[in-house]
Amino acid sequence: MIIVLKADQPQAKVDSFIEKLTGSYDVQVNTWVGAHSTVLGLIGDTTAVDEEYIAAQDVVENVRRVQEPYKKANRKFHPEDTVITLPGGQKIGGGSLALIAGPCSVESEEQICGIAESVKRSGAAFLRGGAFKPRTSPYAFQGMKAEGLELLSKAKAKTGLPIVTEIMSIDHLPLFEDVDVIQVGARNMQNFELLKRLGKLSKPILLKRGLASTIEELLMSAEYIMAEGNEQVILCERGMRTYETMTRNTLDISAVPVLKRLSHLPVIVDPSHASGISWLIEPLAIASAAVGADGLIIEVHNDPSHALCDGAQSITPAQFDSLVKKVNTVFDTVHSL
Ligand code: PEP
Ligand code: MN
Repeated sequence: MIIVLKADQPQAKVDSFIEKLTGSYDVQVNTWVGAHSTVLGLIGDTTAVDEEYIAAQDVVENVRRVQEPYKKANRKFHPEDTVITLPGGQKIGGGSLALIAGPCSVESEEQICGIAESVKRSGAAFLRGGAFKPRTSPYAFQGMKAEGLELLSKAKAKTGLPIVTEIMSIDHLPLFEDVDVIQVGARNMQNFELLKRLGKLSKPILLKRGLASTIEELLMSAEYIMAEGNEQVILCERGMRTYETMTRNTLDISAVPVLKRLSHLPVIVDPSHASGISWLIEPLAIASAAVGADGLIIEVHNDPSHALCDGAQSITPAQFDSLVKKVNTVFDTVHSL
């Protein structure tokens, strides 16, 4: 961290500021005294140093961070890729493409079990399905809640597919015993109390990027979970809000290689929420596999036109089957280059 001090500060004030820095943080301070200003270079662990607090000090002209503010999620301190392995052997990260598929929402036993069987046959290793749904309108279908989680468990018992489903409130955590991967949705990416609580668990957390969050904010949210002890975090790019109206969101495809460069955590893509349009799912899934995504989470519905949520972006099991073949070909080709 570089701190530029205001010109002509009394030496005593500068000394006491430096003493405060070395006394409060695990850092060393190098000082360069120029003709017009003094510059301090903080070396060491600056993750706990609050830039805004420094900027608010009397003697400070400006401050700039040169080291990332996240540590546990940072590839610099953990060069090898993190691979998430479930008790059943399913993996996310580590050189294979993890496919998570299922409906936006669980609607009935027949629906979730039928879709689970189809997507499994096509190569999905995980079943997705929302039981608690974050809907823009309070009058829209809110999900089957506890009953939805029970139906996911039935589908898991039938197919062996681990469950990926979203949590919206810490209060619901006791219901998530049989859930294998807990999803934190885009709207909750910065629900810090929820993140901290999930950080105390020992099961994987799928963390989606917020609707208008930067890559660094996503990594800081991962850091919240990891700082509590849970290092099994999967990052998910799911499109972000831009001025474009042709698609529901704009898929930030460059986020995939950027995240993989900055972090050792596995990165997956959700082309369904990124585009909102069923015919765009396949090309975006292919693009994601080509840029190095470790997995995909895709909405699949047996009858999209009657889906209770997100029918327009849902693909059919047959479309999913054909997508998987193409995506795997691209993934294998890119990984053999
Ligand atoms: C979902 O996956 O069902 C979902 C609501 O996604 P997001 O949080 O990315 O909008
Ligand atoms: Mn959805």
